[in-house]
Amino acid sequence: MNLLLYGPPGSGKGTQAAMLHDRFDIPHISTGDILRAEVKSGTPLGKQAQPIMARGDYVPDDIMIGIIRNRLAQPDTANGFILDGFPRTIPQAEALDRLLTEIGKEFDRVVYLKVETPELVKRLAGRMTCPVDQKTYPPGTTTCPTDGAALIQREDDKPEAVKQRIEVYLSKTLPLLDYYRSRGLVSEVEGVGTIEEIHPRVLKAVGRGSGVANS
Ligand code: AMP
Repeated sequence: MNLLLYGPPGSGKGTQAAMLHDRFDIPHISTGDILRAEVKSGTPLGKQAQPIMARGDYVPDDIMIGIIRNRLAQPDTANGFILDGFPRTIPQAEALDRLLTEIGKEFDRVVYLKVETPELVKRLAGRMTCPVDQKTYPPGTTTCPTDGAALIQREDDKPEAVKQRIEVYLSKTLPLLDYYRSRGLVSEVEGVGTIEEIHPRVLKAVGRGSGVANS
């Protein structure tokens, strides 16, 4: 099952992708997580990406396409993958199409997690992140309930960067919706509610929502 989780920043893509990974045992490929790991390790790519990410802009397309090309070449993607945060621009989507054709794969579904802008701002501003597993928690949470780590605020979850991320999403990423809709690939999922409410909607969208155990 080859999936794309699509949606604005703060729509819950990462959370739902991680749950799909747990359920179907296919890799969750988050370009944001890949870039954050590069920043943390201080690689040349990380050094280039860090200031761009901190202000909420996009890392150049050629770099992102290179990252995905390498990642999709890994053998763990043989039975499927969940893309989260890529593609984010039309040139990225076009390059991904060429790459998928090259490797003989295609998307089964694009799941669009729909959340309106005021709700996104509310979620992102003050959101806290676990430095160990990257899971996010509501403002005011101090400790990760899973591993006890002290939560941090991502630099790009600060107010100015949040505003920029949403603006860049609307201008550069929203056009992808029509790009995939024109091929009949998009399933729209209401992204407001609790994580437990939203997950069954996502399962239904990917055709695994029958309620049958291990479906
Ligand atoms: P995310 O965790 O998906 O919100 O990504 C965090 C940041 O990484 C974004 O705000 C961008 O600066 C950068 N990034 C992640 N994926 C991409 C992409 N496909 N294209 C450009 N920049 C990206």
